[in-house]
Amino acid sequence: MTKKEYKEYYESKAFKEQYVYDGTDLGAVCDGDCTYFRLWSPLAEAVTLNLYKDGETEEVTAVSMEKAEKGTWTYTLEQDGHAVYYDYTIEMDGKSWKTADPYAKACACNGNRSMAVDLKRTNPDGWELDCAPAEKPEQVVYEIHVKDFSNDPASGVPDAYRGKYKAFTLEGTTLNGDGIHPTCLDYLKQLGVTHVQLLPVYDYGSVDEAGDDSQFNWGYDPQNYNVPEGSYSTDPFHGEVRIRELKELIMTMHQHGIGVIMDVVYNHTYSMDSCLTKTVPYYFYRQFADGSTTNGSACGNDMASDREMCAKYIFDSVLYWTEEYHMDGFRFDLMGLLDVELMNRIRKALDEKYGKGKILMYGEPWRAAESPLREGYHPALKENANLLDENIGMFCDNTRDAVKGHVFEEKEPGFVNGGTGFEKKMLQAAKGWMGVDKYFPVQSPKPLITYVSAHDNLTLWDKLKITMKPEASFLSREEDIVKANKMAAAICFTCPGRLFFQAGEESARTKLGDENSYISSPEINQIDWERVYEYQDIAEYYRGLIAFRQQMPGLTDKTAKVSERVLDETVISDHVVQFSVDNHEHTRWELLTVCYNASKKAVVPKLSDGTWECLIDGDSSFRWQKPQAAENAEIKPGTVSVFGRIKK
Ligand code: CA
Repeated sequence: MTKKEYKEYYESKAFKEQYVYDGTDLGAVCDGDCTYFRLWSPLAEAVTLNLYKDGETEEVTAVSMEKAEKGTWTYTLEQDGHAVYYDYTIEMDGKSWKTADPYAKACACNGNRSMAVDLKRTNPDGWELDCAPAEKPEQVVYEIHVKDFSNDPASGVPDAYRGKYKAFTLEGTTLNGDGIHPTCLDYLKQLGVTHVQLLPVYDYGSVDEAGDDSQFNWGYDPQNYNVPEGSYSTDPFHGEVRIRELKELIMTMHQHGIGVIMDVVYNHTYSMDSCLTKTVPYYFYRQFADGSTTNGSACGNDMASDREMCAKYIFDSVLYWTEEYHMDGFRFDLMGLLDVELMNRIRKALDEKYGKGKILMYGEPWRAAESPLREGYHPALKENANLLDENIGMFCDNTRDAVKGHVFEEKEPGFVNGGTGFEKKMLQAAKGWMGVDKYFPVQSPKPLITYVSAHDNLTLWDKLKITMKPEASFLSREEDIVKANKMAAAICFTCPGRLFFQAGEESARTKLGDENSYISSPEINQIDWERVYEYQDIAEYYRGLIAFRQQMPGLTDKTAKVSERVLDETVISDHVVQFSVDNHEHTRWELLTVCYNASKKAVVPKLSDGTWECLIDGDSSFRWQKPQAAENAEIKPGTVSVFGRIKK
């Protein structure tokens, strides 16, 4: 068949009727004395199951699989198959080739051979009691790469665990082991974030798991969607170890009140030479009408989420990570390549199983290029926000770019770093963008992920440095950049939406201007724990903002009522805006007035009648702990202040 013929066949009614399989038993299922294998490969003429005693040896026991319903192939191994390694030989059109199992739940080093696993045997002690942390009024997500977190020797993490899942399980680590300055887990707890979002922890292809520690990749190159990445485990050769160690990470986070969100990349694979292609040629990849492959991901291929069995694959995968690993949420990479219909279906299934909106779902509502979907399907882009369930969040690039300047125009500033004409946008951000942007039709702040920096593009510090002090070193402390950093944070933390920031944004993280560090050195990427304490004042400012936000009902409201709650939006002058937030549910401060002063002069706030206290200013985000009367208050240049009106 030509590529065009494949497309037409896969999208035909006949194919759907004959081959769409809805069973839940794809892959290898260990059930005590028997192990059941089932592979979906409808065009195969024969399939052989190859069994191995470990991940490396070539000595094989090959058995023929039986053709079963809906294009599946089955085999029952009458033994406990835990830790039996396997792959398949597919025969088609007079040729044959080997493939790993797309539904593998465990694998050998580097993922080309699958492993049957009795998942119960991968559970750490106490796993049965593991549950999601209690929900807080606000979700504050900290985006971190497993290796970045602890690769720096100054992290105080023992060498064997540096850069690994295990580093997340350690309590009591301190800066160079000084016993004073908390790092890693203890640092996160102190900061007050509610979730960590891990950059890809599914198995990806770009790092040799048997290679040395000088390798680095962000991991946006999926290989085995349902297996943890091996290079973060202490032993990538035994398939059960990485599973147990990722579960330990999650359990420890939960024990310390922090949820875990997984970055999932269902929009493309490492290459098309994947186990998906090898089991069903071209099926899992989107094609143009002429049969050629779409490339909306700019990574060479797009997954065809709008084909039934591909949608099932993604759906099953999300449900699997939630159930088996107790994941608390998912961040969908290039969500704009997936379809609204599938996203809503996943949302509904998670809601039914875990409670409405309990498992977080959000993603990037964009794509790199056109990727036409089948008729009746809609891409999960910003412009389709009104079609998506309101509990599917979207990164809000409107706020991001207005605060610090355009993400792709390095030298272009935003509101906090000298840009002009951003006053109106700041006030729209304060109102959650409702009703102002026809290309972003949000009905409430629920879908908003409010942020200024993520792993992509320049770090906040680097962006501010380039726009404000191009002549300075990335490494030197510049007080006006520190101020702008605090201001950017204070704006986010007083705007509606869920909060998100890149690890180290709170401590002047620099990648020395490297705006796409996906394959740069570990040293460029890792958290520099000494720098964290050089810029402790910024982290302290974030800590206060987080703690303040958690207590203010006016700021955490996610309902459409926010459009009435946010009042009296005023442009005071160029670079200066002010608004108020109805906070009547709070016991002390019934109204908050927020002023963003990005000008070079001090400004006097316009406070309504009543008694006011200063809760946050440019120097401290903890004023609310010992509030002072706001008489004669002024807002210093380049700072944010929040005032609270005392209830009568
Ligand atoms: Ca890997």
